[in-house]
Amino acid sequence: MAHSAPLPGTVHLVGAGPGDPDLLTLRAARLVMNAAIIVHDGLVDPAILAMARPGCRMISAAKSRARHSLPQDEINALLVREALAGNDVIRLKGGDPFVFGRGGEELEACRAAGVPVEVVPGVSAALGAAAAAQMALTHREEASVVSFVAGQCKGLSEQNWAGLAGVGRTLVIYMGVATADAIADKLMADGLAPEMPVAVIENASRPAMRVLRAPLAGLGALVANERVKSPAVIVVGTVAARGQAAALAQLAEAAA
Ligand code: SAH
Repeated sequence: MAHSAPLPGTVHLVGAGPGDPDLLTLRAARLVMNAAIIVHDGLVDPAILAMARPGCRMISAAKSRARHSLPQDEINALLVREALAGNDVIRLKGGDPFVFGRGGEELEACRAAGVPVEVVPGVSAALGAAAAAQMALTHREEASVVSFVAGQCKGLSEQNWAGLAGVGRTLVIYMGVATADAIADKLMADGLAPEMPVAVIENASRPAMRVLRAPLAGLGALVANERVKSPAVIVVGTVAARGQAAALAQLAEAAA
């Protein structure tokens, strides 16, 4: 009888949410707790990795702007290799795998190699940040459109954001800390008022979370003066003036 290759394992592309382990879906939690191999990126909170059982192989594919520890095609090749060897692989990503997570590329690489894939959605940073800051991204009176853009991926100037921000619209910028100044200039060049409210939500859902606010024209200075660090999302629109401050004031009033 011919010696046949093992059946391929499944690659699970799993969203780990913005940080707090309580924000994992039940399916993600179950997969992490039973995993034999986890390939995770740098944004996955250590508390989530700590849920894996002892003996689980942990492979970091951490990427940052300055340091690419594993290029994307090597990550793709690693997932395919492990699955073709018969192993189930948990590919754990911050937030949601299909929002600026390159999950689409990994999905395609697996499919091309005949590897089955399961995708488990996660709470994307915009949603986790909005909830943690108590800042509704849409609001009947104020915003009926919400857009997510990347402040980094490609050249900022190549991206057309016209019409995504302004009155009645909320724009959430991922990966925008390093380019905050240029982002403000770009939006104002597109016609946004310099006084349009902006909120920067850093480390959403984590103990070190900060919510900072400025008018659009002051975004660059805010990020520099407050030494904002990645990960942070930038919310542009009138809803950015709402949220935590008001909620906290109300709590204080109620307590008085
Ligand atoms: N797939 C992820 C996004 C990856 S891109 C998701 O759906 O959330 C990385 C960017 O996500 C960061 O630069 C930052 O803008 C944002 N981000 C991730 N986690 C965050 C957090 N806890 N707080 C604020 N922003 C976060």
